[in-house]
Amino acid sequence: SLESAYRGRFAPSPTGLLHAGSLLAALASWLDARAHDGTWLIRIEDIDPPRDIPGAGEKIIETLSRFGFESDEPVLWQHDRLDAYRETAARLVSEGKAFGCACSRHDIAEWHRIHGGDPSVYPGICRNGTGGRKPRAIRFRVDSEPVSFTDRRLGTLTQNLEKELGDFVIWRADSLPAYQLAVVMDDGLQGVTDIVRGEDLYGNTPRQIALQRALGLPTPRYLHLPLVLNDRGEKLSKQGGATPVDPESPLIELERAWRSLGFRPLGADSVPAFLRAALPLWREGWGNR
Ligand code: GLU
Repeated sequence: SLESAYRGRFAPSPTGLLHAGSLLAALASWLDARAHDGTWLIRIEDIDPPRDIPGAGEKIIETLSRFGFESDEPVLWQHDRLDAYRETAARLVSEGKAFGCACSRHDIAEWHRIHGGDPSVYPGICRNGTGGRKPRAIRFRVDSEPVSFTDRRLGTLTQNLEKELGDFVIWRADSLPAYQLAVVMDDGLQGVTDIVRGEDLYGNTPRQIALQRALGLPTPRYLHLPLVLNDRGEKLSKQGGATPVDPESPLIELERAWRSLGFRPLGADSVPAFLRAALPLWREGWGNR
């Protein structure tokens, strides 16, 4: 049946341990997969050595298993896929869908100082060649056709990538794949049909859809979740030093994540009982949306 074709994933970057915000994404993606009788995968997005913390990926997997979450298939580690990312970026260049860019941040700022316009938009300086300068990064060539998608919670988002963003980086100047490229390739490789993740990534989705189209990949359904905020009302992030969840108190942490998703406390007395009680409520609330 269509339902059993559901494939979801939780894809943390090991820049720190699991914190309340990432637990929320893990819990919701797991519940959504189970509510659809689907497959749930863990993927460790360890492609940013300057920010990744050694051993954090293993610790995240271990903590997830204390919370009752095990990947239905072997965990995919993005560091094993570097050659594939590099080859795909090169292929996009040879197809004219991406190009080498020699611009530094400073070059782009200079351009905007002279020509004006939104300083956060890459204005296509190297689109037709670098003018003899050495390419540093690879950028995906966007167009002015608006990209739209409908999120299960937040509704429709339409972006004109050319106007709002410009050609974006898929291969970094420090010789690493960009998140946008790796995430799209691996969701494609793993046949992911449903992405459930934090609202902070909502605005990245049109870029990812443009890349999916360029690579001939299907576009999954999306559900972007409310963010967990700290006492100062700021988004929790691993780099921001968010406190890790306590792997010794899975039930307390799960109840907290569940409340952040807008549900009432379940008062369960074990992790399996919690997950059993949460599932029908999730199905009712989100199963058909
Ligand atoms: N690795 C990303 C992060 O931890 C999430 C990727 C995604 O869910 O698309 O922020």
